[in-house]
Amino acid sequence: MEYNTSPDQLLRLTLMDGQASVFLLRTTRLSQRAADIHQASDTAIAAMSRLMTGTLMLGIMLKGDKDSVTVQVNGGGPAGRMACVARGARVKVTMEHPQADLPPLEGNRPDVGGLVGSKGLLTVIKDTGSGEPYIGQCALVSGELGEDFTQYFTVSEQMPSMVALGCVCLNGQVLSAGGALITALPGCTEETLRALELRSMLFTGLSRELCERTLDEIATGWFTGLSPVILAQLEPLWRCDCSRERMERALISLGRGELNDMISDGRGAELTCHFCRAEHAFTTDDLTALLAMASRD
Ligand SMILES: [Zn+2]
Repeated sequence: MEYNTSPDQLLRLTLMDGQASVFLLRTTRLSQRAADIHQASDTAIAAMSRLMTGTLMLGIMLKGDKDSVTVQVNGGGPAGRMACVARGARVKVTMEHPQADLPPLEGNRPDVGGLVGSKGLLTVIKDTGSGEPYIGQCALVSGELGEDFTQYFTVSEQMPSMVALGCVCLNGQVLSAGGALITALPGCTEETLRALELRSMLFTGLSRELCERTLDEIATGWFTGLSPVILAQLEPLWRCDCSRERMERALISLGRGELNDMISDGRGAELTCHFCRAEHAFTTDDLTALLAMASRD
C-alpha cells in the first residue's frame, strides 16, 4: 500500500436532493500526530485514530464557534480510558495506556475491540458554553468504535446512520486513516435506503481507498447514481488548548490544603497535559502565589 501524504480533509455532501447526508474524512496526518505525541502502539494508534475520526463527525455538526464535543470511551480493555475533544474541525485525543498492545487479528486487522474493551460506555458530552452540557450515553457494542459510533448516532441522536472508521499503521507509521458517516434524513425513500445499504459494503475497503484516491474520487465512485453534491470541505487540524493559565486554575481548584502540602514538600509541581503531553512546571514560589489566590477566593 502506498503512503498518501495529502493533507487531511473533511468532505460533507448530500445525496438524492437531501435524502441522505455524508461525511467523508481523511485523518492520516492527525492520526500520525496522535501516534507521535503518545508514543503509541500500532493497535492504540488505530483506536485513537478511530475515536478522533468519529468525534470529528460530531464536532462538525456543532453550531457555535465555542461549542465543543467530548467523547469518552471506557471499555475496560488494556487501553484504559480514552477521550477525544473536538471544536468544529479541531481535535485532540488521549488514551490512558497508549503503549498497550495486542496481536493483530486475522487478515492483519488491529484488535481495536480487544484493546478498547466492550464492557463499558461511549459517552458524548456537548458543551455550548451556556447552560448544562448535553450528555448522551450508550453501551459499547464491540469496542471497535465504528459499530459503537453507528449505535450512538442511530439510537442516541436518532439519526439512522452507518459509520465506518479505519486506520492502517505499521511500526508507528500511519499509512492511511479516515472514516465515513452516512445518515438517512427525514424523507429518505426505501429505494435510497436500499441503495445505501448496498454501498455500505464498500466501507470495508475504506482504508485502502484513502491511500489510492482523493475524497472527491471516493465520493463520486461510491455514490454514482445517487446524485452526490459536495456542500463543504475543510481541513481538520490538531489543536490542544491547554495553557499555563488552565493548569494554574487546576492547581487552585485542588484547594488550600493540597497546595499547602505541595509547598511544604518543596519540590514544586509538574503537570502534564493528557492530550499533548506538554509539561507545565511550577516552582514552590509559583505554588505560594497560587495559594494566595486560592485563599482570596
Ligand atoms: Zn495540551
